[in-house]
Amino acid sequence: MSERWVGADLGGSNLRVALLDGEHRVVRRWRCAVGHLAGGGVLDALREGVRAVAGSETVRGVGVGVPGLVDPLRGSVRVAPNLSGLSGVALGPDLQRDLGVPVWVENDVNAIAVGEWARGAGRGARTVLVLTLGTGVGGGLILDGSLYRGPDGSAGEVGHMPLYPRGPRCACGARGCLEMYASATAVVRAAQARGAPAEGGALSVARAARAGNRAARQVLARAGRALGVAAAGLVNLLNLDRIVVGGGLAGAWDLLEPHARRELERRAFAVPLERFRWGPWKLGDDAGVVGASILARESLGL
Ligand SMILES: [Zn+2]
Repeated sequence: MSERWVGADLGGSNLRVALLDGEHRVVRRWRCAVGHLAGGGVLDALREGVRAVAGSETVRGVGVGVPGLVDPLRGSVRVAPNLSGLSGVALGPDLQRDLGVPVWVENDVNAIAVGEWARGAGRGARTVLVLTLGTGVGGGLILDGSLYRGPDGSAGEVGHMPLYPRGPRCACGARGCLEMYASATAVVRAAQARGAPAEGGALSVARAARAGNRAARQVLARAGRALGVAAAGLVNLLNLDRIVVGGGLAGAWDLLEPHARRELERRAFAVPLERFRWGPWKLGDDAGVVGASILARESLGL
């Protein structure tokens, strides 16, 4: 019998759980909606998902990505703004007791970053930033070959990097954060304000842009420019090998990139720029479960 791991990716609206083999390839998937559930309901759903994908197979460990600030060493969730019932919950110890296997709890974007770095578009690089352009803009940072969490576990919040000090007010209270320009939400909002088609979310804005819609093209150009300005600062600061772009807007990367590149080349230093590469994620919606399962293995020293 080959080795088995479980990875779970808890989003604000969906829970994805997968069984993975010893190479962290997905063997089986399971998902359910969790947006309507309270803390206890989310725990029940996690237990159900892990049991559903494991079946009768023996699992070595479980990794769970949670949208919020977590304390990985305690396995607890400190703050989860989009799943408020989970704030303060000792998710790791609770699950571990019920399932009888080691459980590792990690921030969801950190798990995605580890997945893309180890098995996806960041493979082979040592210093990688993974950006998720979705409801907000998330970030996970691999610094010189290891996940960088910072002393409070809050590192990597690229979405709230101040970009334009007089820009629109962000949900975090500050003005002009990257998230206000480059999230899927921001793209849809800007498209609606300019009368571009946006009923199907950010990807319908991308479709309209591809079909030649001028307003849609302008909205994506603005998002691309914001990403380029942010990337220039990050390349200069960190000497990044790579930025991997995931989330709902990753499918529009070809439309964002030319605008982002122009701003990047205008601002980044020549030497780090020569090394630097960027592109869309490869694992897509599997990145979180793959990364969570890798972190579960690492936590056991295996
Ligand atoms: Zn903000």
